[in-house]
Amino acid sequence: MTRYVYDFDEESVGGRELLGGKGVGLAEMTALGIPVPAGFTISTDACRAYLAAGGQIPDGLDAEVARHVGALEEKAGKRFGDTADPLLVSVRSGAAISMPGMMDTILNLGLSDVAVEGLAAATGNERFARDSYRRLIQMYGDVVDGVPGHRFEQALTDLKARRDAPLDVDLSAADLAELIETYKAIYAEETGDSFPQDAREQLRRATRAVFESWSAPRAQVYRRTYEIPDDLGTAVNVVQMVFGNRGERSCTGVCFTRDPATGESHLYGEYLVNAQGEDVVAGIRTPEPISGLQERMPAVYDQLTETLGRLERHYRDMQDIEFTVEEGTLYLLQTRTGKRTAQASLRIAVEMVDEGLISKEEAVIRIDPGQLDQLLHPTIDPTAKLDVAAKGLNASPGAASGAIVLDADSAAERGKAGESVILVRWETTPDDIHGLIQAQGVLTAHGGMTSHAAVVARGMGKPCVAGCEGLEIDVAAGIVTIGEHRLRAGDVITIDGGTGRVMVGSVRLVPPAIDENFGTILGWADGVRRLAVRANADTPEDAAKAREFGAEGIGLCRTEHMFMAEDRLPIVQEMILAQTDAERARALDRLLPMQQGDFEGIFEAMAGLPVIIRLLDPPLHEFLPAREDATSDAMRRRIEQLQEANPMLGTRGCRLGLEYPGIYEMQVRAIVRAAKAVRDRTGEAPVVEIMHPLVGFEGELSRLRELTERVAAEEPTVDYLCGTMIELPRACIRADEIARIADFCSFGTNDLTQTTLGFSRDDAEGKFLTFYLEQRILERNPFETIDQEGVGELMRIAVERGRGVKPDLKLGICGEHGGEPKSVAFCHRLGLDYVSCSPYRVPLARLSAAQAALAERGVAALAIGG
Ligand code: ADP
Ligand code: MG
Ligand code: MG
Repeated sequence: MTRYVYDFDEESVGGRELLGGKGVGLAEMTALGIPVPAGFTISTDACRAYLAAGGQIPDGLDAEVARHVGALEEKAGKRFGDTADPLLVSVRSGAAISMPGMMDTILNLGLSDVAVEGLAAATGNERFARDSYRRLIQMYGDVVDGVPGHRFEQALTDLKARRDAPLDVDLSAADLAELIETYKAIYAEETGDSFPQDAREQLRRATRAVFESWSAPRAQVYRRTYEIPDDLGTAVNVVQMVFGNRGERSCTGVCFTRDPATGESHLYGEYLVNAQGEDVVAGIRTPEPISGLQERMPAVYDQLTETLGRLERHYRDMQDIEFTVEEGTLYLLQTRTGKRTAQASLRIAVEMVDEGLISKEEAVIRIDPGQLDQLLHPTIDPTAKLDVAAKGLNASPGAASGAIVLDADSAAERGKAGESVILVRWETTPDDIHGLIQAQGVLTAHGGMTSHAAVVARGMGKPCVAGCEGLEIDVAAGIVTIGEHRLRAGDVITIDGGTGRVMVGSVRLVPPAIDENFGTILGWADGVRRLAVRANADTPEDAAKAREFGAEGIGLCRTEHMFMAEDRLPIVQEMILAQTDAERARALDRLLPMQQGDFEGIFEAMAGLPVIIRLLDPPLHEFLPAREDATSDAMRRRIEQLQEANPMLGTRGCRLGLEYPGIYEMQVRAIVRAAKAVRDRTGEAPVVEIMHPLVGFEGELSRLRELTERVAAEEPTVDYLCGTMIELPRACIRADEIARIADFCSFGTNDLTQTTLGFSRDDAEGKFLTFYLEQRILERNPFETIDQEGVGELMRIAVERGRGVKPDLKLGICGEHGGEPKSVAFCHRLGLDYVSCSPYRVPLARLSAAQAALAERGVAALAIGG
């Protein structure tokens, strides 16, 4: 028979897949001799069996749990369900992959109307006993029976108001006795039943509820966002209660071994005296910084510091822990790898290498490339004059401007529609997750650095200002007060999560740069990667940015943007409207020196690094106004002529170059002359690579190669390569024929995805694709991550056939995928020579390429969870 239950103090019996991150952490801490309350874990196997059976407790589980409760009673010297001196337990969810706050936990199980009196007598602390019981009713009601949490909250708020008690700790034992009666009445009213008095029934139903919390909507949303599989299930941990709410010598807190925002190596956390469980994160009272514990309970603080040092050395990574002190005795209740900002990730990795805790390879593989995006987001211009309306905690760095929204649903809706919104709340809860995903940033009035909003925002790399005292919200009236300013929902504000400042209106932002730790890690990454990393850049400014971020060349310089420039467009239109070849030639002659200037700028910026210039790609109608805006009859007629039902599948790319050879001739001439001019001026010859787009047939490329060579021969001698994009399925299949003619090929995976899947790049994402993703017909957006089985398979065929005839054929990718970690790893495995992506993604691509190389060598990342 399957075994489902494991005590914390058993020899290591299973990993996080079986016991969940929390369960494994509790067992490991127990083995390390760290003070952890006794308890046991009901495995994820049990949860999966329960869910698979449509909500049936698997055979034998009840009996097994009963045996382990028995063992726990032995250890505790108290009995579960006893009314004189009861053993109390918590029932805590804990999946293999951490989903903070997404699932449920219930504290103080085992209390009843009679047992609460026993507990009061046994501890001599009536207030504490009643506080524990009211918490049980509240959590149990909410989690097990779905009693709306706000009803309990409201009852508590009302009572505090009546007693003139600002905080819950100001309520007396008698007040709490009254509150318990109110809570029980709410429970009975909502469920039609009285609050269960049998400890074992409480445990059974709580376990069930935790199993079921795996399927709760918010947990599903979270899993989709973080790509966590749906079929893992959660473990359930049953833990002997220790009490942070027993009075002034008791407290509860959370703590990181290093600063999760900056990475600085010092304890970082918060605690609350005379409190329990979620009080710290829920933002009910404002917690004290952990340094305060040093004064209040020096011995406990030292023990905590020492314990956290041991945990960090054991796990060789920054830990995020939860602890409780009961009358001066420290207990750890959880440890997990701490979530951190990108900036902190880098600093911690570099310092841990310095400290000899981890190797450089481990440092490289630990950084989540997706997270680096955070550092590559704009920040507030340091020279901008700011009118700071209020200040809060700098809970998650980065700056963002957006319209104020007051609830998660509107944030989700408006954010999805492409609007920039800032979610402004008293505090956030796990139910707000969909709004947080879509918002640009979060601003809360309550809560500390470890509040829900702060933790979630850091994980998502969004700016967050938390605990902003100057913020007041009247949700019903749609009015927000920030400092002196009265604003309405919809008004624009700017938050700076790096400093905690809140400004009214929008503020000038500046582009990011690479700091020292970032540079160090990228340097290590460059040492191990095989793929070269280039950038897609169309202007000298972009090219310079790309080099600053470490690009080793340009993989795609689009020439159409140059045609769009205000001073060029009229000439381009003349060229398109020309009635005769001579007229067209005149227009092209005027464009030639302009294009030459463009290319000189880019060659110079790249100083001898290779530059791929793609000849004109888009259909000509893109350069003309809409029909009704035509300024002449001739223009209107030409627009009608050029009209196509499917322009993306029409006269564009090399088809255009073949039909209007003058355009490509002009461009080739401009490229060659620019190369010569830069060579003469700087003494360094640019590395020129000319690329023909949208080739599908051998005959296209052979003619275009001939055109290129003929024009280049008319100009001063310059070395160049002549290649093509591979962006049609036919080009992949016939890559051998193409490779005979091309010096290099670059996968244009945007078009290749469009043409392979038959998904329009311009519409699909706004239309059915979202539905497909929701329905899980597709796991990922194929325009973001290469569809490896379809598009990727065509690429594999192309690589094989192309290299079959030309083993040294240079191959790369220049679609958006070139900067997406999973796709970069795929390109590594395909054996491409380089990836090319937008300048801001170059650092990410360098890191992803290194991780792909390390993965091939079998260097694995540490699992992150808890
Ligand atoms: P989450 O996964 O949301 O962090 P936990 O299961 O860790 O939920 O429980 C939340 C909090 O409840 C913990 O941080 C801890 O303070 C408190 N808690 C849980 N179990 C116990 C226990 N046995 N004794 C005292 N406090 C507990
Ligand atoms: Mg926890
Ligand atoms: Mg294309």
